[in-house]
Amino acid sequence: MTDETTNVTNGNGVEQQGKKSNTTLIVVIILVVLFIPMILGVFLCGGAALIGIAVPKYSDVSESAKMNACRANMRTLASQEVIYYAEHDCYTESLAELGMSGIVCPECSQSYRITVRGDDLTIECPCGHGSIENGRASWSN
Ligand SMILES: [Zn+2]
Repeated sequence: MTDETTNVTNGNGVEQQGKKSNTTLIVVIILVVLFIPMILGVFLCGGAALIGIAVPKYSDVSESAKMNACRANMRTLASQEVIYYAEHDCYTESLAELGMSGIVCPECSQSYRITVRGDDLTIECPCGHGSIENGRASWSN
C-alpha cells in the first residue's frame, strides 16, 4: 500500500511535471505562433509602408530632376542657336552644327525637335517637358 501510494504520488508528480512542461511548451509555441507573425507582420507592414512612401517620393524627385535637366538642355540649345544666328544670320536644325550632337532628353533619351521657319525657332522636348519658341519657354520658372 505504502509503496503503491508513493508510486502513485511519484507517478502523479512526474505526470504533473510532465504536464507543466507540456503546458509551458504549448504556451511557448502559442506565443511563437501568434506573436512572431504579428511582430514580423508589423515589420513587414512597416517596411511596406516605408517602401510605399519612399519609392514614389524618390521617383518624383528623380522625375522632376530629369525634367529640370531636360529644360536646362533646351535653354542651352536656345543659347547655342543665338550664337549660331549671330555667326550665320540664320538658325540651324542641326545639333551637330550647334556643337551639341548627341544631346537627348534625360528622361526618354530622345533627341530634341528643332524647327526653323525663317527667323522663327522652336526647340521642343519629344516627351512633353515643354518647348522654347523664339527664346520664350513654355514653362514658368
Ligand atoms: Zn525632356
